[in-house]
Parts: sequence; structure tokens; C-alpha cells
Amino acid sequence: MKQSAAGSLAVLALGSNLPSRPRWLDVARAAIEGAGIEVLATTPRWNTVPIGTVSQPDYLNQLLLVAGRRRGAEWLELVRAVEARAGRRRGLPKGPRTLDLDIILIQDESWATAELQVPHPGLLNRPYLLRGSALLVPDWIHPEEGLSMTELAWRGLTGCWALGDPAVGSSG
Ligand code: AMP
Repeated sequence: MKQSAAGSLAVLALGSNLPSRPRWLDVARAAIEGAGIEVLATTPRWNTVPIGTVSQPDYLNQLLLVAGRRRGAEWLELVRAVEARAGRRRGLPKGPRTLDLDIILIQDESWATAELQVPHPGLLNRPYLLRGSALLVPDWIHPEEGLSMTELAWRGLTGCWALGDPAVGSSG
């Protein structure tokens, strides 16, 4: 992985499902960099089907590996500022939005407060978050699961996490 002298590393997820989706993702990246955060690596942009009960357009999603001199809730300040820069407008909760920015992982940090949950709880059940995290930070260990991002993505694909899993091939 590319290293940086610019502080701690984090994985951020961008999502947009209002026109123009690519432009909102570009605006978000520019706002992140404008806040002094270094973008070290990016995933491809993926089209994803929305989850939940609200009928809405597909999302365009992308994950970024970033570095910045921030810890914990200081990353949330960035999230709020960038969403505001993207003119975030939302009606329904979990409904369509110009930009959603989530903190998926922060290296060596784990948070479970009302304000901030890291790793992001959606990581384990949204395939693009697992796939993107496995691409960007394959060796990072999920603090609750005790598995690397590669292992978690593998588990998501196969239902088991290693060839030696005792459940494989067992009948009980
Ligand atoms: P959302 O509606 O998905 O944009 O969620 C917004 C709220 O989620 C914010 O007010 C945050 O305080 C809270 N939140 C908790 N954990 C996270 C996280 N890992 N990334 C972004 N927002 C978070």
C-alpha cells in the first residue's frame, strides 16, 4: 500500500443517486482534497441497487483511501463539510441524495458512539463496501470479526472464510 506522511489512514465511501452522479463524486473528491486530505487510492465507480424500502434511482459508489491529520469524530467534521459542499439535499430518510459520504474504516481505530460507528456497520452486508475495502486495504483486520478485508470479501462471496473452515463439507 502507498504510505503517506500526512497522518492517519481512512477508507471513505462516496455515493450519489441524483443527477449528475459522476459530477457529485468529482465535487466530493475536490472538496476532500481542498480540506487538506490526501487521496492515496480509489476504487472503480460502481452502480449499485439501493437497499431499503424507498423507491429511488441506483447509486454510483466509490471508495477512497485517504490520509489526514484527524482522529475519530474529526473525520465526521470532514464528512459534514463535504456533504454540504455537494449541496446535499434529502427528503426521506435513506432517500435519494446528491451525496452520501460515509467513514468505513479508520486505521487502528474503532468507535461505537451515538455519533460515530467505525467500522461502518454496513461494511459487512454491502458487497461494494467489502469489495472496495479488500481492494484498498486488503490486510486491515476488522476489529470485531477478527478477519482481514480480503477474508471478509471472500466470506461474502462464498459463505465461508477459509478453506479450512470446519463448516465446509460438514453435514451438521
Ligand atoms: P447518513 O444519513 O447515512 O448520512 O448518516 C448520518 C449520521 O450517521 C451522521 O449524523 C453521523 O453522526 C452518523 N454516523 C455514524 N457512524 C458514521 C460513519 N461511520 N460514517 C458516517 N456517518 C456516521
